[in-house]
Amino acid sequence: MKKIIILKYGELTTKKDNINYFLKTLKNNINIILKDINHTITYDFGRMFIDVKSEDIEKTVEKLKCIFGIHEIIVGYISEDKSLDNIKTNILSLIKDKNFKTFKVFTKRSDKTFPLNSMEISKSLGGYILRNIPNIQVDIHNPELLVSAEIRKNEVLYYFNGLSGLGGYPVGTLGKGLLMLSGGIDSPVAGYLAIKRGVKIEAIYFESPPHTSESAKDKVIKLARLLAKYNTTVKLHVINFTRIQETILKNIPHEYLITIMRRMMYRISAIIAHNSKCNILINGESIGQVASQTLTSMRVINEVIKMPVIRPVACFDKLEIIDLAKKIGTYDISTLPYEDCCTIFVPEHPIINPSSIKAIEYEELIPFKDLIHEAIKNHEVISVDVEEDREYEDIL
Ligand code: ATP
Ligand code: MG
Repeated sequence: MKKIIILKYGELTTKKDNINYFLKTLKNNINIILKDINHTITYDFGRMFIDVKSEDIEKTVEKLKCIFGIHEIIVGYISEDKSLDNIKTNILSLIKDKNFKTFKVFTKRSDKTFPLNSMEISKSLGGYILRNIPNIQVDIHNPELLVSAEIRKNEVLYYFNGLSGLGGYPVGTLGKGLLMLSGGIDSPVAGYLAIKRGVKIEAIYFESPPHTSESAKDKVIKLARLLAKYNTTVKLHVINFTRIQETILKNIPHEYLITIMRRMMYRISAIIAHNSKCNILINGESIGQVASQTLTSMRVINEVIKMPVIRPVACFDKLEIIDLAKKIGTYDISTLPYEDCCTIFVPEHPIINPSSIKAIEYEELIPFKDLIHEAIKNHEVISVDVEEDREYEDIL
């Protein structure tokens, strides 16, 4: 028998008119994520099949566990001999070592020339299983083991309970968003949640060398690489923020440092997003977490741009964010001890109720449009792939 991977879609199936667009995108995303594994993908509106060499099955399933748009991942078996006797012995050999007390047989017969109908096949297979495995029972409502057999034109397909996929929509089906990615815990989680809803993310990182180190940037690249597992790849925009921060520090009253700094980040992010065809900004702001995330601060910071800002973790507790960060694998990277540009310039008493009028007044003290223009002109783009740079691997 040959192994085959079967994917079930879940929420996608509710997309009646444009389901094909969702499925095509899912297929493309899988092609990208499996680019190092020889594979063939076929699909219909009910499910997708992925054919890989049997030694690559485990590796492939691991990668598929990170793909949004998949509800269930099942490893099935195909055999070309369609005689009922052969079907029985195949099923027995596949389930005899499984641990279960109750089961149910589900049969589907797309080959209508097969001499028995689905009901008769299920009955015959169920009886055979009961006679050959001791101490088990049929439970049609809540079986521990679901034994599925599909009689197709040229083959029989067998499969059992599968693994849960991530659900959500295939990345890219809802367009693109720009994630403001710091080295902290919140922003990678925010990015993950946006990807889950089908938004393909690009990321933007503000660095302030020499106040922030290369290690701080490497940490952000590592986070982007981890997010690439879910997003297929991540394009990371790196903005040198040093001159802007130094100018703000020198000219603006200290209680407004963070407010003005974040207004500058928002303006630059919105322009980069616009130029990269991203429709929204995404960030890790969480209501009340720090002075810049009071509702008044959020309003005064947000009002410098028109683009919508999605804050997926706005209403999460820190502990909920940490739980999710651990689950998706970003927590250990986020907690590495490197400084971020925001933490370096934090004033002792940042304002928690800033005024827009004052913010505008203070910004007139600096040539902010020129500074923004210069930062955007000099920005660096890094394409981050799931895998580490191959060249190094070959050399070491
Ligand atoms: P995080 O919120 O990711 O844990 P943080 O707590 O250091 O990091 P905050 O000061 O809470 O960051 O900033 C709120 C949000 O602003 C971040 O979640 C992130 O989306 C964005 N942000 C902050 N600093 C940067 C930066 N240096 N580059 C890009 N985005 C940033
Ligand atoms: Mg935060």
